[in-house]
Amino acid sequence: MNSVLKNKLIIISSPSGAGKTTLCKLLTKKMKKISLSISYTSRSKRLNEINGKDYYFVSKDKFRKLQKKDFFIETANNFENLYGSPFKNVDSANRKNNHLLFDIDWKGARKIRQKYKRDQIIDFFILPPSKSELRKRLIKRGRDNKKEIKLRLSYAINEMKHYSEYKYVLVNENVYKTVNDIKNIIEFNNLIFRNKKILDKKLKKIINLK
Ligand code: 5GP
Repeated sequence: MNSVLKNKLIIISSPSGAGKTTLCKLLTKKMKKISLSISYTSRSKRLNEINGKDYYFVSKDKFRKLQKKDFFIETANNFENLYGSPFKNVDSANRKNNHLLFDIDWKGARKIRQKYKRDQIIDFFILPPSKSELRKRLIKRGRDNKKEIKLRLSYAINEMKHYSEYKYVLVNENVYKTVNDIKNIIEFNNLIFRNKKILDKKLKKIINLK
């Protein structure tokens, strides 16, 4: 178990194409006391991405070397690439007295839950409004080729099956509303979103929609 934190570890997971990146960016703008945990990845940089802002882009070799040095809180293998959250982000958020926001997948979220106490973590799973909307967003993004889109869609569907491991599950119909909901939950520990029965019905529909 790691040291006690002054602030929370906020985890946001969602399949790619559910609008998570926009959401995390908006959230860090709206909430002052929050830092975004910038991950390391071995995947190649996309055109609009900046090294050190979106990710630290490193080779697989370098990533593995860091892994051996216990540099990461958690790592995961997605789409044949390595991703990892470095410990140093926790220290620097702690020094600033900030919450730390992780934009990571369910595998990473599980590992963080094993390393830190439950009351130090607030975890969210964000779903797209429908499966067809998810497909549309993946295609519209246009940065992934057809094979990649197919891979990401099947990965997304698999990922969505893990929503029940999270304390808060939100359907991202409107990014501003979702950000507000997340902010309220973090600031006021608001529990009104835990209406599991209604949510489960809605989620099943999204996950099974052809
Ligand atoms: P993308 O390549 O689209 O930026 O990210 C692919 C997936 O990897 C997303 O679900 C994203 O949340 C996840 N991811 C990004 N960084 C990390 C990380 O450090 N650890 C884990 N476990 N997943 C990550």
